Amino acid sequence: MDERPKKSFQLYSRLLPYIKPHTGKIIFSMFLALIVSGTEGATAWLVKPVLDDIFLEKNTTMLKLLPLVVIALYLAKGFSRFGQAYLMRSTGQQIIMQLRNKIYQHLQTLSLSFFHNHPSAVLMSRITNDVGLLANVCSQVLAQFFRESFTLVVLMGVIFYRNWELAIAYVICLPLLIIPVNRVGKKLRGISKKNQEKVGELNTVLHETFTGCKIVKAFGMEEYENRRFREENRQLYQIIMKGVWADEMLSPLMEFFGAIGTAIVIWYGGSQVISGAMTPGTFFSFLVAVGLLYNPVRRLSKMNNAFQQAIAAAERVFDIIDTESEIKEKPHPIKLSGFNREIVFENVGFAYKRGEYVLQEINLRIEKGEIVAFVGASGAGKSTLMDLIPRFYDVSSGCIKIDGVDVRELELNSLRSLIGIVGQETILFNDTIANNIAYGHREASREAIIAAAKVANAHEFIEEMPQGYETVVGERGVKLSGGQRKRITIARALLKNPAILILDEATSELDSQSELLVQEALEALMKGRTTLVIAHRLSTIRNADKIVAIEDGRIVEVGTHDELIRHDGVYKYLYELQFRHHQKV
Ligand code: ADP
Repeated sequence: MDERPKKSFQLYSRLLPYIKPHTGKIIFSMFLALIVSGTEGATAWLVKPVLDDIFLEKNTTMLKLLPLVVIALYLAKGFSRFGQAYLMRSTGQQIIMQLRNKIYQHLQTLSLSFFHNHPSAVLMSRITNDVGLLANVCSQVLAQFFRESFTLVVLMGVIFYRNWELAIAYVICLPLLIIPVNRVGKKLRGISKKNQEKVGELNTVLHETFTGCKIVKAFGMEEYENRRFREENRQLYQIIMKGVWADEMLSPLMEFFGAIGTAIVIWYGGSQVISGAMTPGTFFSFLVAVGLLYNPVRRLSKMNNAFQQAIAAAERVFDIIDTESEIKEKPHPIKLSGFNREIVFENVGFAYKRGEYVLQEINLRIEKGEIVAFVGASGAGKSTLMDLIPRFYDVSSGCIKIDGVDVRELELNSLRSLIGIVGQETILFNDTIANNIAYGHREASREAIIAAAKVANAHEFIEEMPQGYETVVGERGVKLSGGQRKRITIARALLKNPAILILDEATSELDSQSELLVQEALEALMKGRTTLVIAHRLSTIRNADKIVAIEDGRIVEVGTHDELIRHDGVYKYLYELQFRHHQKV
């Protein structure tokens, strides 16, 4: 069974809720389409009186009347056509705009694991390319489908009215026109799919070389990358040319088959004119109608091709919209007003992939106001453990409770507003420094922003920037050093003023001066908060109320520095290995 009709139907029914609000406009536009098709039919129709009444009968009234009728007709056609196309294309674009907003909003609700499993380049292409393909079809189908179908019907009416026998002969030839379009269309669909895949591969190469440009240069791999790019590019060219071949074959092919139809009309109709069974006017009126039929037939068949392409795009788009977030709020979530007592991990286990536990049997109690340092080898599970508290991921077994309430019972916003995170990556948005600090707190006053920046040791360098707090940073803005970026993110956390702080101390490539400023800022940030820190500095570890050593996803030791050193276990080993030798400030 051909799946396509079913899929087309599914696509329609999915798009219906988006189309429905525009029903009024669509109906009005259908009315305009009717006028356009009517004038098209009238054009063919008028050929008969022009020929028979003016040329043969030499009727002078008609000579005055018909030019005026033609002008009136084309005026009506022009207005209707413009109105109809404009209305429908704007409707199509509005539908797509809504769809794009919907995907974007939906993406915001999805959990971190979704983003880990879908590369950002792919998601971007969903929102731009796939929705774009749909946009094309929506406006095309809406604008052309009714108009061309009505025109087809009206012109068919004209040819049947003029001479039904000849019309039947012509209609029998019509499939000759349609078959090649469908054949080529199928081919084009395959090519377009390959084309998209190739563009994706090309993008991947680009992405890799741009992000890894340092490595490419360091290893002298420019020529290798050039070859790789050239090869992908050549393959893309070949695919595109196959498409061009098929696409450009279509019109000559159709015209040729169209000419066969016209030839039959001339031969058969001509013989009828000679025998006197048909007037020249009827014959030419028929011929013009046949000529005008070419466009609607071509457009409707092409539309089918575009439509099939859109189905694939729509499937990908709705795939995302149908994905449910793994992190969901309960129907009546509990709102926490603050953090008062403790965070407790009860027998927590976690697996990114079913069955592959990266955390197991985590039992831990963190009292309000404590500084808890987590240490362990890379890959031990420290970051994962931190990610469970704000519910970036949900525990696979056991539970995490804040003040006695399972975090899964809490309103997500109220949970996350309790927690501040200063991670390894310093994410700055393409916006002013002030807005970057006030991210999430747009209402913050300038005084509050400056106060936070001061505590974060950031005020001085910000003041020295060309536009101070209004300097744009981020991808397309002013470049900042690693330490400066870090201090801005610390100011951001200070402004948020969270009760619980999650810190990842790992800082790479900071010189000692910068390191000192960051360290001071972090200490200021930790003041008066409950802090969970993935510790890399001896000073933090010594100040911690508790050190938690993690190995292979399990807590192996908990205690103060002195206790754990005495214990002579994993911590002592890690301490000797990691901390003692490069004693950071
Ligand atoms: P640490 O912070 O101690 O270096 P992580 O929590 O980052 O360790 O990683 C713990 C384990 O989980 C590692 O084996 C890592 O490969 C794996 N892991 C981390 N993030 C993901 C992810 N998004 N998907 C699958 N596995 C992951």
